[in-house]
Amino acid sequence: MSEEEDVIAELQALVEREVEDTPGRHPLRTDRCPPLPAFDSRREGWTENQRQHASTCPYCQRTIALSWRIACPDLPQLAEYRSDPEGFPAKLAMGLHLERDGCQRCELVMRSWCFRKQITWLTLVHAGQKKMDELRVLAQGVAVAYHARPTEQFAGPGEPFEARGASENGELTVTLLEDTASNRFELVVESRDRANAGKIVQVELISNENRWEVEVTLGDRGEYGSSGARTLGEISGEFRDIFRGCAIVARWKDEAPLAEA
Ligand SMILES: [Zn+2]
Ligand SMILES: [Zn+2]
Repeated sequence: MSEEEDVIAELQALVEREVEDTPGRHPLRTDRCPPLPAFDSRREGWTENQRQHASTCPYCQRTIALSWRIACPDLPQLAEYRSDPEGFPAKLAMGLHLERDGCQRCELVMRSWCFRKQITWLTLVHAGQKKMDELRVLAQGVAVAYHARPTEQFAGPGEPFEARGASENGELTVTLLEDTASNRFELVVESRDRANAGKIVQVELISNENRWEVEVTLGDRGEYGSSGARTLGEISGEFRDIFRGCAIVARWKDEAPLAEA
């Protein structure tokens, strides 16, 4: 199965689980609801009619919320919602994602400084001084990794901690690893492009209680592109909070609008 078929099969299973008590068509589903593959959140290309329909359709809103269980809304969507919840076209879906599903990832990401910069940018978009498309392009360069709080089932000794995430455009990858030998966290930033050697990446680590900011300078790794690493302090005290769930947000320091002070 292709990755796209996987996502649709997973979404199908979620929708079926939601309607298991209701044989046949979901009672809320209408003839105007787009087919299920259209809800794969990585897809673009809804028609204006579909978009308008979905903004007020309870079935579509629920299905969008289910698709966000597979892949969270992206940064510009979260920023659009946060800056104008009432005007956001998937308002009901976002409410379900953040409140009913209680998504910790989105909640942590929205506390990042990078996210606050996106809100500022949106203010400029609304004032006609910046373009939404530019924000989307910049946001595609931001790498986000997330590590969920462990469930009861997995509590106790297990694999060492690792959280890894890539930017949507594939340019930047960030990884936070637990080095059990030294009892420290190691932060690794990688780019497949050698030309990024010498550039600085600003990384935010956000846990329930804390937020840390670290800069990593990339070095030339020849055919492997460029990468850099930083060892963080000993895993004790405040750092332990990272195990209870954390988001890691990495962005290029010189990409002014999302990074400037
Ligand atoms: Zn619908
Ligand atoms: Zn989320």
